Amino acid sequence: MRYATQAALSYATAEHAKYGYPGPEEFAARLKVRIVPGVENRASHGPPSFITQTPDTYAPRQRFTIFHELSHILMQRCGLEDDIAAEVDADDAELHLELVANHMAGLFLIPDPVVRHYIRVLDLTPAAVLAIQAAARASFAATIRRVVSAEGVDPCTIFLTGGSYVLDLASSDPYNRLSRYDRLPDPLARYPEAHLLCPPSRQGTIGVVIAP
Ligand SMILES: [Zn+2]
Repeated sequence: MRYATQAALSYATAEHAKYGYPGPEEFAARLKVRIVPGVENRASHGPPSFITQTPDTYAPRQRFTIFHELSHILMQRCGLEDDIAAEVDADDAELHLELVANHMAGLFLIPDPVVRHYIRVLDLTPAAVLAIQAAARASFAATIRRVVSAEGVDPCTIFLTGGSYVLDLASSDPYNRLSRYDRLPDPLARYPEAHLLCPPSRQGTIGVVIAP
């Protein structure tokens, strides 16, 4: 990862840690950023700093969106926005800033220490993945991606099957050969060492395969 991006992520995660990893509304309040209803999702560095939020009925998405807009403000506050933009060609700068904001928002939504906490308590298992998802009130898709990329988590593959197919998957195992939409009618036969769970709320199996 590039230097300015790395420095901004360190600054932002330190700010989030300083206040005890709060949710989006509390984090905004701590940063003295006002959230006001608007017709689009935008961040204004100010002063005064504020973000406008469109009404959104899907709560997990809205939490992510607020964190995303706070990320833009934090990139400006640490004075690194121009340096981050300059990491790529001018044509790609705007997209690059959006990707960095998304990455930062993911770290706020599901902080590494939260991931490590549940893995300490529940091991690297589907139960831990579901506990992390519930704590973060995030989507399953976002949760598995953060779990596999969190610092201090062993290389692994987390998948969700539906029927006989892999519906979603995230992996940090360089030797993983499983991908989305692969047929996987019997996960236990293919991965006898996997931790598997068939939650009653879902049609399918969640599997965690820890890299050998
Ligand atoms: Zn944005």
